Amino acid sequence: MRTWKAIFAAALLAALVVPMSAAAQQAADSQPSAQPVAPDATPTAQPSQPVAAPTATPAQTEVSQPAAAPAPITMDQVVTLFVQREHALIKMLGTRTPIVETYLQDLTSDSQLGPVPSADHYFLGRMDMGENGDRKDYLKDESTSMRTRLMGGFQRLFKVQYQPLGFSWMVYADRTDFDRQHYGFTYVRREFLGDVRCLVFDVTPKKDAGKGRFLGRIWVEDQGFNIVRLNGTYAPAPRNAMFFHMDSWRLNLIPGYWVPSYIYSEEGDFSAGTKNKEAFKAQTRIWGYDLKKGGKDDELTQIRVDSVTDESASSGDASPLQAERVWQQQAEDNVVDRLTAGGLLAPAGEVDRILQTVVNNLEVTNNIDLPRPVRTRVLLTAPLETFSVGNTIVISRGLVDVLPDEASLAAVLAHELAHIVLGHNLGSKFAFNDRMLFNDASTYQNLGFKHIPEEEQSADKKAIELLKNSPYAQKLDSVGLFLKALQLRAPQLSALLTTHLGNPLAENGTVIRLSGLALQGPALDNAKLDQIAALPLGGRVKINPWDDKAEMVKTAPVAITSARDKMPFEVTPFFPRLARYGANTAPVAPTTAANATSGN
Ligand SMILES: [Zn+2]
Repeated sequence: MRTWKAIFAAALLAALVVPMSAAAQQAADSQPSAQPVAPDATPTAQPSQPVAAPTATPAQTEVSQPAAAPAPITMDQVVTLFVQREHALIKMLGTRTPIVETYLQDLTSDSQLGPVPSADHYFLGRMDMGENGDRKDYLKDESTSMRTRLMGGFQRLFKVQYQPLGFSWMVYADRTDFDRQHYGFTYVRREFLGDVRCLVFDVTPKKDAGKGRFLGRIWVEDQGFNIVRLNGTYAPAPRNAMFFHMDSWRLNLIPGYWVPSYIYSEEGDFSAGTKNKEAFKAQTRIWGYDLKKGGKDDELTQIRVDSVTDESASSGDASPLQAERVWQQQAEDNVVDRLTAGGLLAPAGEVDRILQTVVNNLEVTNNIDLPRPVRTRVLLTAPLETFSVGNTIVISRGLVDVLPDEASLAAVLAHELAHIVLGHNLGSKFAFNDRMLFNDASTYQNLGFKHIPEEEQSADKKAIELLKNSPYAQKLDSVGLFLKALQLRAPQLSALLTTHLGNPLAENGTVIRLSGLALQGPALDNAKLDQIAALPLGGRVKINPWDDKAEMVKTAPVAITSARDKMPFEVTPFFPRLARYGANTAPVAPTTAANATSGN
């Protein structure tokens, strides 16, 4: 069984977790995400090629394929169609309450590295897509003034204050008044975004349309006439406020609809002579569209209480030790199910198989034989954290993203495996099902898996022991490099390093995890282009915003040409390769510029 697992895993790893090597990277320009196509004639003229008329009710059709012979239509009709489709999308999503995560880095200028993070902020909540656009925050310690609703903007009173809702506002161009009375639409050209041919329009608010109207460009796919990308800002701004610039992407995750998925925001100008040095960049991700709406009744029915299987071979009662193990498994299953139902944990899938392979490598070479197999799951959030409950190791999407190679992945997993091997089990109180009955927004107040410092130290010690017996023993230099890179940025990235369920990798700006490996390996050297100590966020794991499934990103490597290309732990713009629903077996890849450095 184990041998079979190991072989299977090795093949997977070869395919997916290729160790980073900038030297081996080749410049690849095979990402035609924004490949311009020859522009059409005049804006209002009929397109040179007829575009297909959309199917009547895309929601009910399988895949929104144009029926029979498509009738040629004018650009004027296209405007009518995409306005209709936008209103249909707003209506369809009106009952949804997806999770919205914004991770923001304030920027300062560094002479060698260019703009680098000087501080960071993290927002996580669930957004009501209905009319009020309300947002429930998972993180309770946020000041209430943060939630003052000022659409898309931040107040400029004494200091910059970011509005968490602001970053999610640009899921739509205009929630209430997206129509010809309020906007002028000018056809620009045709352009491919990924595999999808789009018609590009400039959108400008009409005179007297009011404050805070969308100003920018939209991309409309040419079969169903849904908006797939919005890029711009809002205007004019109210007094004492300004609006962010945003680039907002949608994915065709269900038939007939393109669902808001990623928003990149950036402000700042570091050119010589610029007075206003306020600068930031932020990634907003939306997922969990298909989660049950968080009503109290729903929450009760979401809880699975029947998941424990009696593993004892005999028909008699469980021995005390057996009873203890079944109890722990019950707690583990409760927590995993609850976090999945709340939209914080990805369902078991492809990424877990890779993580499990690495854990398996550690187990086999250390002759670890546990009564139950160790499972792994991906926490969907960005902050760098791991924790374990029972025999399940959980690692955050953000942490998988920034780890440079398999050895450093093994190192963070080894720490949690060490807790399991040493019997540091924290979660057994969650075997009582009443402890699972809470509102999603209070997940972080109800669940927690932080160990005492003594257990942390012994887990680190054991982890290093496990690593030294493993196939990763000769590759621990890269773990040391990663820890050094983390230490260099830790004082500025307190939000990214603030954990919500497990122990932090760093405390008060100092890296504490695996400190026994911190001096391992060469010195950190930004000028060495083949030294990749840590990756940007967003380059490894992608989440399907509809069903929360996690997958590995597959991108062609891009050569690093300067120290500024490394961008360790940084956010970058999104450039998903758009594809139509069901058109592609390889799912949509929300690649980001981050992939410029990710070597698979
Ligand atoms: Zn720990």
